[in-house]
Amino acid sequence: MALNAEHIRRLIELQAHDQAIDAVDKSLADIPAFIADLKNKIEAARQKASQAKAQVQDFEKKKKERELELAQKEEAIRKHSGELNTVKTNEAFKALQVEIDRAKSEVGDIETKILEFMEQIDGAQQEFKKATADFGVEEKAFLAQIAEKESDLAAVKAKKETLLAERKNLAEPIPEDIHKIYDHVRSRGKRDPVSKAIKKSDGGAVCGACRMNLAPQMVIEVTKLKNFVFCESCQRILYIPEVLDKALAAKP
Ligand SMILES: [Zn+2]
Repeated sequence: MALNAEHIRRLIELQAHDQAIDAVDKSLADIPAFIADLKNKIEAARQKASQAKAQVQDFEKKKKERELELAQKEEAIRKHSGELNTVKTNEAFKALQVEIDRAKSEVGDIETKILEFMEQIDGAQQEFKKATADFGVEEKAFLAQIAEKESDLAAVKAKKETLLAERKNLAEPIPEDIHKIYDHVRSRGKRDPVSKAIKKSDGGAVCGACRMNLAPQMVIEVTKLKNFVFCESCQRILYIPEVLDKALAAKP
């Protein structure tokens, strides 16, 4: 395949451009992930506040149950106390008295429980207040960050459009077969398919990307700038900057 210095120059230019597109693509993937993460954080803060509220309601429900129980016990005490005047036997009187004493002792226990629930409700309400305040602050901060990231995303999308249009112009003068080879190397994971070969003092050269020594025949070939020379180790397209500059300068 006929190759000249101009082709290599254009490929190097194209490669720099493609790397800029890669960076933009990375942002296009990263920014939405970052936004999703912020939304999750808002949701977590919301959940925390709503769990704190549920806790308050749970304690209130338990307190209410105890209050009903207390009312029933007090009613029973009143009823049995009334019956004390109507019983005929000593035994029945004693039995009622035992019943009343037991109910009174249970009332004491229930009252203690109710007090405990009141304290728990207080604590849970504090938690709820704090979680609600935290949620307000966090939601505001995260929403501001999301807005910022969304505007970044719009800018990056616009930048990609521009880069793609520019790429079209850069790629146009490159012969299709040369462009295909470049794309092929790039598609195999080498995002920088064109690499400089670095000359050594002994006349040899190494691949600038993978540092592998080039065979003497390859150094000759790459100096000719007539055909593609691929690094045997990493398969990148090689060029020697000094040789390329000289060839480009010699062109009218
Ligand atoms: Zn290499």
